[in-house]
Order: sequence, then C-alpha cells, then structure tokens
Amino acid sequence: MITFYPGPSKVYPQIEKYLQDAFHSGILSVNHRSDVFMEMLRSTIESVKAKLDIPADYEVYFVSSATECWEIIAQSLIGSSSLHIYNGAFGEKWLEYTAKIKPGAEGFSFGLNEAPDIEELNIDLGHDVICITHNETSNGTALPLLFHSDLRSLTNQIIAVDATSSMAGAILPWKDADVWYASVQKCFGLPAGMAVMVVSPAAIHRAEQVADRSFYNSLLFTRENFLKYQTPYTPNALGIYLLGRVMEHVAPIVNVASEIHERAREWYAFLPENGYELLVNHRSVQSDTVIAVQADREKVTRIKSMARQAGLQLGNGYGKWKETSFRIANFPAITITEISLLRNFLFTISRS
Ligand SMILES: *Cc1c(COP(=O)(O)O)cnc(C)c1O
Repeated sequence: MITFYPGPSKVYPQIEKYLQDAFHSGILSVNHRSDVFMEMLRSTIESVKAKLDIPADYEVYFVSSATECWEIIAQSLIGSSSLHIYNGAFGEKWLEYTAKIKPGAEGFSFGLNEAPDIEELNIDLGHDVICITHNETSNGTALPLLFHSDLRSLTNQIIAVDATSSMAGAILPWKDADVWYASVQKCFGLPAGMAVMVVSPAAIHRAEQVADRSFYNSLLFTRENFLKYQTPYTPNALGIYLLGRVMEHVAPIVNVASEIHERAREWYAFLPENGYELLVNHRSVQSDTVIAVQADREKVTRIKSMARQAGLQLGNGYGKWKETSFRIANFPAITITEISLLRNFLFTISRS
C-alpha cells in the first residue's frame, strides 16, 4: 500500500537500514547522560539546524509531540493570555488545549480562502503570545510568507507557530517568529513519537520572565538539559538517532522546498483539469504539503475505497471536512513514481 496519508505518513525507505544500524550501534542501550548519547544528540541538532537553515542563535529541542508543544507554550511562555489565529481543526485544538491551562486564551478565526486580515487583529491588547498555524493540515491551507513578515513587523510579542505539516518540506521564515515546532511523522518522513521545537532568544527571555519550573517539561528545564546535550527525562533515543540519519541524507531545505512547491503546482493544475474540486481555491493560501479535494460524501467514499483497492491510501478529511474531502500528502518522502501512480488512478476514475 502506498500511503498519501498526511500523518502518520510514508517514512523514508532508508529507515529500514537506519533501524538496523541503530540496533547494531548500541545507541539504544546507552545511558542518556553518557558521552556517546550526548554526541549523538549534539550532531542531530547540528544536522537539523544545517539542513533546515535555522538561524544560529535559535535553539533546537526534541520533545514528544506537537501536542506537547501546545502545553509547553501554555505553561512556560504564556503569562496570562494568548491570541490564536486559526482557520481549521488543529489551530482550534491548540486554542482549546491552551484555554485549559491559561483561561485567558482568545481565538480569532478566519475563512478558508483568505489570509487573516492583519488590520482586524487585536494584537495590542496585551496578549503575551500570538499563536498561528503555518500549515493547517485539516484543510490544506498555508499562511503566505507575507503574513509572517507583516505580523512580525506589527508586534514585538512572542509569536509561536505550529509548522507540524510543513517543517522540513517548506521554507519557514524563522526570524519572523519565536517558537516553531513540528512532530516528525509528517514532512520529516519518520515514525511518530517525537517533535522538534525551535526557539528564539526572545522566547527564552520570555520563558525566564514567566519562570515556570512546575512541570517535567517546563521550557527552562528542557533548555538547561539541552544546553548540556542532555534531556530532562530518558529520551526517545531511537527517534533522535533516526532524525539525525534522515537529516544527513536529505537535501538542503531550499532544494527540498522547491521540489515540493513544483509538485504542488502540478497537483493544483492536474486536479481541476480532471474534474476534481479543490477545497481551497485561492492560490496564495493553498498548502504545498497537504492538498485537499472536496466532493460529496458518496463520491469521497467511493474514491477512497477504489484507491485502496488499487493499493493507494488517501488521507481522510479532517474535522469539519471529515466526510466531504480527502487529502493527499505531498511530503518529501513520497516519490515521483508514487505520485504518478496516484495521478494515473485519479485520471482513470475521473473518466469512468
Ligand atoms: C499532526 C498535527 C498536530 C498533532 O501532532 P501530534 O504529533 O499528534 O501531537 C498538530 N498540529 C498540526 C498542524 C498537525 O498537522
């Protein structure tokens, strides 16, 4: 089965060998305060920073999931209130998770075919952290680069970005925000169970002001450990090892992102040409990494089941669009050959 599911998603085929290498290297049984582990963590962080072109003064930590990042941000960076700008299920869930920890969380929702209107945002009202979703996996929208730079120039408040389904597949304007995070089962092409958190000096400064040290995953506590190339708790050493190996083999992000962008361009041309209706029509907010197609319930069910019979796993719709859309991951681990197979299938059934 070839999977186009947008998470968990296809892992790189090299993972098979890396798993064996991890087993034979002994890293899986090594103490996480040992030199061997610390060196592995250091080199993995370095590869991530180099391949993704992360600014030198931003720090990289590994935690367990994007969901955990929601809580870390709420506990350690939000003093009393946050503003969540969202248009889909993940951005909304982030708001809900945050509100349970910091009840001052507020939401600002915007439509599917628009970028949020910067003029309308109440960002001078004392919100500590502005929370945005770079790539909304539930509906296949992405915030335009211009939005990030506009938002940055408008506010000195901390900006946190969920880039779970775009980090390692798209160019991220790192300097336009303070916290970026992604779990690894999407564009990184890795098995689930870990997240990458990228943090600016301003965010660290904020964490010091908030001074939260109440939780095992408090940002300051995590940071103090990572500065020594250690972790606050016994880490997912296999996940870190696999991430390091994958980051060694992938091309620099400029190359990866331009290929993904080109493939997305082809998808957005192919689908309407063959009678498929896109969920998002405005080119400036269409995601490069998750493509959403809408149709009535019966048609979605029929296409997904015929695809499965042809050995192709499409992504279900998500949230509000669960039954009336399907999603196609356009992640780097998916090959051109696999994409051609899916296109041939979609082409054929569109004529039957
Ligand atoms: C998948 C996803 C998450 C949740 O990731 P977990 O690893 O399950 O915590 C959060 N946000 C976005 C945008 C996602 O795509």
